Amino acid sequence: MTRPTSRARDRSPAVAVVLLAGVAFVVAAAWLVPWSPVPGGTPDPVPAGSAFTAAEIAAGEHYASWTRLWSWSSLAVQLLVVCALGSARVREHLGRRLPGRWWVQVPLAVLLVTLVLRVLALPFGVALQQHRLDHGLSTQSWWGYARDVATGTAVSVVVTSLALTVLVALARRWQRAWVVVGAALAGGLVLVGSLVYPLVVEPLYNSFTSLPDGSLRTSVLEVADREGVPVDDVLVADASRRTTTLNAYVSGWSGTRRVVLYDTLVESLPEDQVLSVVAHELAHARHDDVLTGTTLGALGAAFGVGLLGLLVGGERMRRASVVPLVMALLAVGTQLASPVENGISRRIETRADVDALKATGDPVAFREMQLMLARRSLADPTPPAWSQWWWGSHPTVLQRLALADRSAAGPAAERARAGAVEHGAGPVDRGGLIRS
Ligand SMILES: [Zn+2]
Repeated sequence: MTRPTSRARDRSPAVAVVLLAGVAFVVAAAWLVPWSPVPGGTPDPVPAGSAFTAAEIAAGEHYASWTRLWSWSSLAVQLLVVCALGSARVREHLGRRLPGRWWVQVPLAVLLVTLVLRVLALPFGVALQQHRLDHGLSTQSWWGYARDVATGTAVSVVVTSLALTVLVALARRWQRAWVVVGAALAGGLVLVGSLVYPLVVEPLYNSFTSLPDGSLRTSVLEVADREGVPVDDVLVADASRRTTTLNAYVSGWSGTRRVVLYDTLVESLPEDQVLSVVAHELAHARHDDVLTGTTLGALGAAFGVGLLGLLVGGERMRRASVVPLVMALLAVGTQLASPVENGISRRIETRADVDALKATGDPVAFREMQLMLARRSLADPTPPAWSQWWWGSHPTVLQRLALADRSAAGPAAERARAGAVEHGAGPVDRGGLIRS
């Protein structure tokens, strides 16, 4: 009779963490997320046929159908295998075989599970990369691709090992309070991670240079001034070594905040369209969207540690053999959280579009830019609704075009047509990264 009682007592801190972090997440989301980002309501998407030719629509659908097949197969295989690795039998086996003390065993187990998953994902990744090469979307050599896979694996092993070693250490130190301290540290790790990401992780993948002096830079700083965003520098990433697609993003917060444009974007779009992208990114900066995402991510991480305490318990958490189970729960939890994360992201992205249209007063350039981004990435204009709901971090291109049309009919466009907006028609985008 004492067992259920002590078990229940054992889990009460976890219940408290789940409730507290859950409520804090809901309150923060209600407060920080623009739930109705379009004044007057979000317009219906424009018909695909009004923006794209039948051939473009077919090409987008063909490309997306294969991308989905490879991505979803990869995801399904990895989820199945990580859940199998998390089963009691495998964990028991692992517990007997891992050498050394627990603080050696934990990183070893993380390395083992990560390598198994990455090897399984490799054929699908290679198929995806071949698919990109076949359609001219990738410019990367196989050597460069392999280097990216290796870098991604190394970053994942380091971060996961660090987090799990700390969690196991806490569970060994405090039988009950580990979950409270662990939740606080996990939240802190997300905050610090998002802050240092532009300084530590991004340089592993790209080189960055300042946007050179010239009319584009001058115009960018003017738009920044109009949007009320203090900007010291705008960076250009050498994305062309990897892709032909066009993009931009904001990352970091506080002192590490930066607006980054792909070199492909700067080189292949006319200046008024680049400014539309910049205005979107500056809107993210003005609203501190990265910090919003990071805050919600930190609360989500704390909530996750609370759930871990409930599902796994302190006793199992004290041993390295818990690693595959935690990684399985993490993988499943990440997928289950995806609709919440992306539902929030789509609203934040929509607000940035609305603000960009307002700041440039140039719906024509915005529209052309969206069409160009979609064409260059072979975007599917009409992704399956449930796929967009689950994984779509941005509104679809047809929804974004509808925003431009709405704005073109509004007062900003009237002013632009009347010449009141100085640069109206002329030269005027994932845990803490907001992509254009
Ligand atoms: Zn964005």
